[in-house]
Amino acid sequence: MSLLVVGSVALDSVETPFGRREDVLGGSATYFSTAASFFGPVRLVATVGEDFPEEHVRFLAERGVDLAGLERRAGRTFRWKGRYEFDLNTAHTLETQLNVFGDFQPALPAAYRDSQYVFLGNIDPDLQRRVLDQVEAPRFVACDTMNFWIGSKRQSLLETLRRVDMLFVNDAEARQLAGEHVFAASAYPLASLFDPTGAGDSFAGGFMGYLARAGREEPDVLRRAIVMGSVLASFAVEQFSLDRLASLGHDEIRARYGEFRQLAHFDELEPDLFDGRGR
Ligand code: AMP
Repeated sequence: MSLLVVGSVALDSVETPFGRREDVLGGSATYFSTAASFFGPVRLVATVGEDFPEEHVRFLAERGVDLAGLERRAGRTFRWKGRYEFDLNTAHTLETQLNVFGDFQPALPAAYRDSQYVFLGNIDPDLQRRVLDQVEAPRFVACDTMNFWIGSKRQSLLETLRRVDMLFVNDAEARQLAGEHVFAASAYPLASLFDPTGAGDSFAGGFMGYLARAGREEPDVLRRAIVMGSVLASFAVEQFSLDRLASLGHDEIRARYGEFRQLAHFDELEPDLFDGRGR
């Protein structure tokens, strides 16, 4: 079923304790659509500048991402520069250059208006609603946001959330929004975490891609979609930029899903080992 994403397509400069990269492909819509492309076509709405390399456009097109909604404008592409310390959990933003993203007015091509599954990437909540206004009858809407919008545009964000079925945020953002403690679900315990950029968007892409493919939102499908989100995120962080998702195969996705399932599985207690008569 049709899946639409709106968000950033960026050139990232990233430093981790393991290395650094300058002006590599990044952006929330990029990670999302690449992860979701394993399950079916994705319609992308974003903007880039004249300096955006053609090879990145080809990369997305080859993955089946519909680029009718990728607007190329005079000016420079959105740039984000971040650093991760050894804990690799928190991105420290060093620099954000909005460039053409600064006055982004998302406009949906007519052919996108019948989209059924919609992911609103991390942009101004006013713009998120403007996108929703252009979709005729969305069936399932998911959304991302960040501390910046929770703090500075809370009312607008709450208005957007009224029209959203699922919100993707990290635990700190969830606490900031809710004003109270929230529950946590486990992630895939990865040995080779390298660059966390794009983990959240790859999670959302795996989740929404799987859901759009399934075309149903029953609890068992939602649970599998959540695990699929974790699987795609776990691959995305193994290398810089989109490098790991670019080389990823369906077999690897299937195998890691199996490992995940194995990890979460445990057998019944042996009745004779714990029979209440111990010690
Ligand atoms: P995440 O999945 O949260 O790690 O998203 C990382 C991506 O978000 C990076 O590739 C950045 O290009 C992009 N990004 C960083 N800051 C912003 C922002 N203020 N608005 C939109 N996208 C951003």
